[in-house]
Amino acid sequence: SKSLGKNSFHFYSQALEKEALTQLAIEQELRKAIEDNALHLVYQPKVDLRTMKIVSVEALCRWTQQDGTVVPPDVFITIAEQTGLIIDIGCVVISKACLQLAKWRDAGITELAISINLSCIEFQNEALIAHLIDCLNHHQLEGKYLIIELTESIFMEDKFNVKDIMLRLNQYGITFALDDFGKGYSSFSYLQFLPLHYLKIDKAFLQYVESSSSSAAIAKTIIDIGHNLGLKVIAEGVEGQFMLDYIKTYKCDLAQGFYLYKPMLPDAIASIYLANHASV
Ligand code: C2E
Ligand code: CA
Ligand code: CA
Ligand code: CA
Repeated sequence: SKSLGKNSFHFYSQALEKEALTQLAIEQELRKAIEDNALHLVYQPKVDLRTMKIVSVEALCRWTQQDGTVVPPDVFITIAEQTGLIIDIGCVVISKACLQLAKWRDAGITELAISINLSCIEFQNEALIAHLIDCLNHHQLEGKYLIIELTESIFMEDKFNVKDIMLRLNQYGITFALDDFGKGYSSFSYLQFLPLHYLKIDKAFLQYVESSSSSAAIAKTIIDIGHNLGLKVIAEGVEGQFMLDYIKTYKCDLAQGFYLYKPMLPDAIASIYLANHASV
């Protein structure tokens, strides 16, 4: 009825208002967390499937509020993108990752690369790119230790500008991975156009390799596409032995997932890396 409709609208707008308030509260808290240096990075190893040795780690941003509440990155990154705070977060992530690379280098860990996630807004922000170069120079780091993960949404941006930035950064040795491949808007012409080095299969396809033959076929096909384009293929979200065997069989290059290693603090990475590379 009409009155019910009215009521449900009232209820709906209250829910929206509450959500807006929550967003505003998160935005204010996030702003403060950035100022207080309360964001930190955890690192998840990626292994070379031929040697099972750790070759790089993905930096993942973490935010724990003062009362202990953990806000997942999917939530705060989205809000940060809407409010512009994402540039400040990118600045923090870049500074921390470069400092970490320098620390590991100084501790004798010289063959470990870090990948960082940059959203489209971050990647096309020239001040942030300049900050990245400054950090490399400041710590005297070789860019080959840095991999930038971009998502398919980069295909919706100005492709000439994106390519220009990639080529400029590649001159320092920085390489690029296309993240969550197959999840959204995938265009083969863009795959060819952009100077990419790695393709990361979205974890949704791997989740079902055991139970669904079509998912298994898609995962296998993505590995082939990557190889045919001259890219190294990374499987993420590896959660069990079946998946691991599957991607090995189809010659996937690298793997990342809870079954191998969880995201960890830098000290844990250092000890696991050293144990993993001990030559006995
Ligand atoms: P992503 O780039 O696809 O990162 C991989 C996500 O998968 C991470 O979630 C990781 O913890 C999770 N993961 C790792 N292994 C497994 C597994 O075996 N199974 C499953 N189900 N998940 C696994 P996390 O850390 O919650 O990050 C979520 C997303 O937030 C990231 O997805 C990325 O898009 C974004 N994000 C995280 N840190 C940053 C950052 O510093 N900057 C930007 N722009 N985005 C970030
Ligand atoms: Ca990623
Ligand atoms: Ca991903
Ligand atoms: Ca993702």
